[in-house]
Amino acid sequence: MNILVINCGSSSLKFQLIDMDNESVQAKGLCERIGSDGSRIVYTPAGKDKIAIESPMPTHTEAIKLVLDCLTGKENGVISDLSAIDAVGHRVVHGGEKFAASTIINDDVVKTIEECNELAPLHNPANLIGISVCSKLMPGVPQVAVFDTAFHQTMPAKAYLYGLPLKAYTDYKVRRYGFHGTSHRFVSKHVAEFLGKPVESLKTIVCHLGNGASICAVDGGKSVDTSMGFTPLAGLVMGTRSGDIDPAILEYYAGKENLTLAEVTTVLNKESGLAGLTGGKSDCRDLEAGYEAGDQKCIDAMEIFCYDVAKYIGAYAAVLNGVDDIVFTAGIGENSAFVRNKVCEYLGYLGVKLDAAKNAERGDDRIISADDSKVTVCVIPTNEELMIARDTKELVEK
Ligand code: AMP
Repeated sequence: MNILVINCGSSSLKFQLIDMDNESVQAKGLCERIGSDGSRIVYTPAGKDKIAIESPMPTHTEAIKLVLDCLTGKENGVISDLSAIDAVGHRVVHGGEKFAASTIINDDVVKTIEECNELAPLHNPANLIGISVCSKLMPGVPQVAVFDTAFHQTMPAKAYLYGLPLKAYTDYKVRRYGFHGTSHRFVSKHVAEFLGKPVESLKTIVCHLGNGASICAVDGGKSVDTSMGFTPLAGLVMGTRSGDIDPAILEYYAGKENLTLAEVTTVLNKESGLAGLTGGKSDCRDLEAGYEAGDQKCIDAMEIFCYDVAKYIGAYAAVLNGVDDIVFTAGIGENSAFVRNKVCEYLGYLGVKLDAAKNAERGDDRIISADDSKVTVCVIPTNEELMIARDTKELVEK
């Protein structure tokens, strides 16, 4: 069974075609700058080099057409025609409280996703365009929506309600939703398999540390708390997002800089975090290099980032009343031995002991804690596309 996984952003589109008989990626790629000049597709068929094609893509329709042309192309295609695509799995950012699991898409589901648009005005409309274009270009092919928020719907009210007038929740749906749910679900399930333990028996803290970063407390396979909130702006200091701040700062800073609230929110999303602290560096590799070179801004930014991660781990160890395993994933979590080491230096009181040699190794799934560590610390590469494809397969085979 071939499943096409589509992740539509506002001006980009990522895709993978996965053969679910052996879960192998047959082709993957990215359409960039949809709707503006210089749009191009970067396409990588399995076992071959990347191919970049510049082509006008005024809308997502042209982008998806181009993806399908690449997949079925004579020279570098991986399938003979579109009938070889058995189902399409879509990443949808926000399912509000309406979706606690992935679902087959029909007209009612589309309407309900539309109702969640105001909660994710930049993302959900793009996701819906992807769904609409695919159903036109591939009529009759089942489509599935997999939500970033769904995994966190198991959080109890004490974790998702804010200390605001209750009508903020009852009338305006303001609550913690959490994001990166597909990644947290994949990683928490996969680490249990990797450790050979039933997921129901584990108290796991997943640290998804990428350009966007969030931490999730997973009890027996269920999300019980997570650091992102009503939007992905909350929680840890991230690449360009501020993470948690005192909400009174908004009005104060708006006054000082003569900005509207919307403009301050843009500052918090795009000009803050590691980039804000360093004057523009958001890539962890640059920050590590700056740290080593003694650049004080990079030193402060990295110290703040690792301190934040350690604080959340401490909070979630309390929430879970103990922790069996801590897992690092995503760009920084998978690649930065420096960050993992610095974070774990704070966790001696939990009985966490890293093995420096194992932490320095590169590779796929691995344990990086010492044999006598009370908590098992792992690196597990995340794979949101595979999770989306697995959900899609399961739902269309039902
Ligand atoms: P993601 O959002 O998951 O794609 O992760 C992007 C982040 O991963 C960026 O901040 C990168 O700097 C970071 N990253 C990627 N490779 C490395 C590496 N080898 N060492 C440190 N950070 C890395």
